[in-house]
Amino acid sequence: MSSSRREFLYGLGSLSALTLFPLERTEPDLILYNGNFWTVDARPPRAQAVAISDGRFLAVGSNEEVLALASGRAKKLDLGGNTVLPGFIDAHTHPAEAGLDHLRMVDCDLRSIADIVSALRKRAAQTPPGEWVLGFKYDDTKTSDGRPLNLADLDSAVPDHPVFVEHRGGHTAWVNSLAMKMVEIDANTADPPGGKYDHDPATGHLTGHIRENAKTGFQQLIPSNFTRDDRREGVKLISKMMTRTGITSVGDAFGTPDDLRAYQEAREAGELSFRVYCLIGFQFIDQMLAAGIRTGLGDEWVRVGAMKMLCDGSISERTARLSQPYIGRPDDFGILVAGEDQLYPVARKAHAAGWQLGTHANGDVAIDATLRVYERLQRELPRRDPRFRLEHCTVVNDSLVRRIKALGAIPTPFSTYAYYHGEKMKEYGPERVDHMFALRSFIDAGIRPTQASDYPPGPFEPMMALQSEVTRTDTKGNVWGPKQKITVEEAIRVGTINGSHASYEENLKGSIEAGKLADLVVLGRDPFKVDPSELVNIPIQRTMVGGKWMWEA
Ligand SMILES: [Zn+2]
Repeated sequence: MSSSRREFLYGLGSLSALTLFPLERTEPDLILYNGNFWTVDARPPRAQAVAISDGRFLAVGSNEEVLALASGRAKKLDLGGNTVLPGFIDAHTHPAEAGLDHLRMVDCDLRSIADIVSALRKRAAQTPPGEWVLGFKYDDTKTSDGRPLNLADLDSAVPDHPVFVEHRGGHTAWVNSLAMKMVEIDANTADPPGGKYDHDPATGHLTGHIRENAKTGFQQLIPSNFTRDDRREGVKLISKMMTRTGITSVGDAFGTPDDLRAYQEAREAGELSFRVYCLIGFQFIDQMLAAGIRTGLGDEWVRVGAMKMLCDGSISERTARLSQPYIGRPDDFGILVAGEDQLYPVARKAHAAGWQLGTHANGDVAIDATLRVYERLQRELPRRDPRFRLEHCTVVNDSLVRRIKALGAIPTPFSTYAYYHGEKMKEYGPERVDHMFALRSFIDAGIRPTQASDYPPGPFEPMMALQSEVTRTDTKGNVWGPKQKITVEEAIRVGTINGSHASYEENLKGSIEAGKLADLVVLGRDPFKVDPSELVNIPIQRTMVGGKWMWEA
């Protein structure tokens, strides 16, 4: 917090001093009282009431102190003793894209291959022959069949439409024969650089599973015929879905100019219910530079974030680039999508122009390569407080953690994976999992990691994130990486104030503090009092963004 803030204290309440912020208009429009506020690194640390004016906190203190500020026009709401936290910040997720997916694609988050192919068949029946049938959120470890989807499943269900079903991780997909034919791939086609067409080891036939850069040829053929209204509609839908779980701000981890416009148009139409820090995909950096745009442009609702690059594969799809092979696959070290030499020139251009950088790096090999790029940039073109982001930053070791700390870099590890994707962790092995989503290591080293769902790959519910981070236990009771457990208090800090730091907005949001944006969540139960294995069940009663209720149960 900045000491230059025009903040002053007066009175001595029952909890601690009331803090007041002198806004232009000092009459509150709304007072929330009789609450159990945990303010997160603010003064006072706990409070009973807040006064809100013009979308910001005007005062934070005891019931008596804050209610004394009420004028004739102030509305008052009794919170009945419920717990209030700052709104959650999901620092790495893909909302614009996910919103469109929910509008247009078959949601394959189903529990059997039969259910999935039947949903695809149904969609095909409503789709003119020859047009694409698209699915998303398929998860190979979540069906009861004990085997992944394959080409034959898709061919028999949907023979007359090209099919493209993405894994919920987004780095791999399953396609049918017609799609293969359209992209001119057969069993003899060589793998593209940084990609793979899987073959049946016995017959040599294509299995329909395509990985990383092998998806590109298919994606180029899938028409992206979304209108501006579709895109705005997608943003409206996903921002509603997310605010009802207590999220008030997101980082869009791979925004395009179309996404940026969709956020802006949704906001103008009154349909944007969260705040967005929109990272921009590296493919668009030249356009951005030509327009004179850089990180920070915008306002507290829609802001241009870092430039986003990609270094390796995915954790949930087991393609992250590791120094040691996957368990049970001695020759499989994962996939490096772009190495140091490919990342450096793009990174340098953006860094020199004042952009924050964010690079997808899951495996230890990828994190090392990304850190080399960042370290080199700071040697050659030192910038004050560049806040380099390591998107995901999953598999670390002591030396990587030291380099992250030395650079002041920000990891955005998956928050819900230990809980939700536990069954995939056996392919990493218990020793490695002790160094994955390494919140304990980061916090102990003085690093400020964020909450990050990466949705669609991970569920975005902040209460699930808290449970996953505090218990490291999956839905079946298996514990993954117990050394990395953190406390409820730490997990809340990761999900609030640390997220604001990752977007240079720590003076604007992330805590309940006089002068900051009035973003908060009212919970049905107190996370400090429930059993940690019950955190996921805490109901979200209300979510406020900028002094407005965006969700009320
Ligand atoms: Zn992502």
